[in-house]
Amino acid sequence: MTSIPGNAVETLRQTLGQFQAALSVVDDAIAIFSHSNKFLWCNKSFEDFTGTSRMMLLGKNREEWMQQIGLEEDVRCKLEAFLNEEAERQSKDNSFIFSRDHRGIRCTYMVESHYVAYKDDSKSLVFILKNITDKYKALDLQKRADLLEKLSERCPLTALLNRRGLEKRLNYILSEGMKDGLALMFCDVDKFKSINDTYGHDVGDQVLRRISSLLRQSIRGEDFVGRLAGDEFLVCIVNQPRQIESVARSVSSRILNSLAKKYTFNRRNEDFEFEIGMSLGIAFGRDASSVDQLMRNADLAMYQAKSTKSMSYFYDSKLMAKNDVDDFIRQVSDAHFSSGLIPFHLQPIVSVESSEVVGYEVLVRPISSDGVLIPAGEFIGFHEEKGVIESVDRLLVKSLFNQLNLEIISGDRFISINLSAITLCSEKFSSFLLDSIRSSQVSFEHVVIEITETAFARNQSSLRAVVEYLASYGVRIYLDDFGVGQAGLAYLIDLPIHGLKIDSSLFNRSKENDKARSLLSSFVLFSDQLDLDLIVEGVEQELDLIHLHDLHIDWAQGYKLSPPMPQEAFCGSSDFFDRTLCCPLSETLRNPFRLS
Ligand code: C2E
Ligand code: CA
Ligand code: CA
Repeated sequence: MTSIPGNAVETLRQTLGQFQAALSVVDDAIAIFSHSNKFLWCNKSFEDFTGTSRMMLLGKNREEWMQQIGLEEDVRCKLEAFLNEEAERQSKDNSFIFSRDHRGIRCTYMVESHYVAYKDDSKSLVFILKNITDKYKALDLQKRADLLEKLSERCPLTALLNRRGLEKRLNYILSEGMKDGLALMFCDVDKFKSINDTYGHDVGDQVLRRISSLLRQSIRGEDFVGRLAGDEFLVCIVNQPRQIESVARSVSSRILNSLAKKYTFNRRNEDFEFEIGMSLGIAFGRDASSVDQLMRNADLAMYQAKSTKSMSYFYDSKLMAKNDVDDFIRQVSDAHFSSGLIPFHLQPIVSVESSEVVGYEVLVRPISSDGVLIPAGEFIGFHEEKGVIESVDRLLVKSLFNQLNLEIISGDRFISINLSAITLCSEKFSSFLLDSIRSSQVSFEHVVIEITETAFARNQSSLRAVVEYLASYGVRIYLDDFGVGQAGLAYLIDLPIHGLKIDSSLFNRSKENDKARSLLSSFVLFSDQLDLDLIVEGVEQELDLIHLHDLHIDWAQGYKLSPPMPQEAFCGSSDFFDRTLCCPLSETLRNPFRLS
């Protein structure tokens, strides 16, 4: 290694000192960040502008220095947007902000950012706020108006086009007669609310920014991306009319592929790692006569993707509008309420070891007079949204105990009913439930109530009395979708909980992820020690059974064991079994479990 002569080091130090001194008297506020957004350096004007000293910011990571510098909201957003965008943009860009300088005087700044790449592949970002108040004032009115217009077309958090900016561009494309070569993709983040609730808004914002950069990376120059609102994004793809469909298909799979891995987010120095789910609805300009209609079509396709859990969905004109879907659900619901009964299916919960059925989960199966089945999640969601879920839960309880064939629960078998927290907490529901069970001559020990872990954790205090009351009669309580909510776990100690239903997503992850497997193993261990039943949901393949065996999990539920079916399938003649073999899901029954 060659050493640098002492005088060269000294010269270098002096030059640097002079350089820094020169930058310190510049009016522009300058700050330099590392590629990972660590604070490296800033000049005096930046200190004035932010009201902090360089020494306090040096080496701090983004969250820390962001917290330390006092910036007005829109300046902060702009800076954040720049930092987020820089990694992809890799070039100089500028835009304007209006803020106060350190004396409190309203000024106009031009923001500039430069991306500097060094020979050793390290990179840094130079952020410059140029005070252009005088220049701005000298602009004529029209130019100022243009500038403001431009500013109002961007979302401050992600720097993507906002609704206004998107509509303007889409209108332009349609007015230029290019709609046949246009595809619009409506992207909606799955369970964004629960990300916000679980990890906090900081992480929520990071998720939105990560998505915006992934979407930007998935498109080419002519295409553009915008954020409509909240967790809704639009991707607009422009191409030859003949190719637009295949291009849209490849963009959508690029987006979904980029999401098919875990990303790390950070809050107060704690890392969180998770996958982001997204549903895409794709519509084409050729099927719409206005921007409004095009957006509606894409929204509709997205809604269809969500409700069929299919990740992406291409619009076709036969899709029902959300309003029509709501009307349809309302009609079917009204018909069930006036008949006083609602259909349900039963899905066996099976001991993998012995192939014996240990119980059945009851799943609501609303159906129209002409045989269209409404997915349970849609139906429940609709009534939850309208605030009338209790009436559905009551109708199901009534239908179940009116119609249940007692043969179903022979031996020690139980029936497991999904109930919403709202219903359980409502006055008089417990006595209605107990009366219904009693009148059907089912004994209380054969009844399990499933309540989701998240709902349980949220409503613990109001649920405590109810679950204790029900448990005192022998009714058991299972926590549903366990392992995906915010497990506080302490309630397992002092509340009467009798079982955990492990959500299929945790089970699926445990197949390839060591941490998920350890987590699941620890659930097995503590459920054993706390004497809780443990059921894994979503068992779909032969291999899943082996995985269950390895994890010492016996009770399971899933299409591999049996799909949900009408109760007749599980009692009496085996004829019904043969007949149900024509149902596509019932191929799983080629592996029948024992019924007695
Ligand atoms: P859940 O309680 O988690 O019910 C399990 C869901 O997973 C059911 O969907 C079931 O059909 C489905 N499933 C069963 N085996 C498999 C499998 O191997 N793979 C996959 N991917 N899915 C499987 P379903 O019947 O559409 O119900 C959806 C949700 O609707 C339920 O989720 C539950 O939260 C709610 N729900 C259903 N019936 C009722 C009800 O009567 N009352 C209330 N309040 N909610 C209900
Ligand atoms: Ca359930
Ligand atoms: Ca579940």
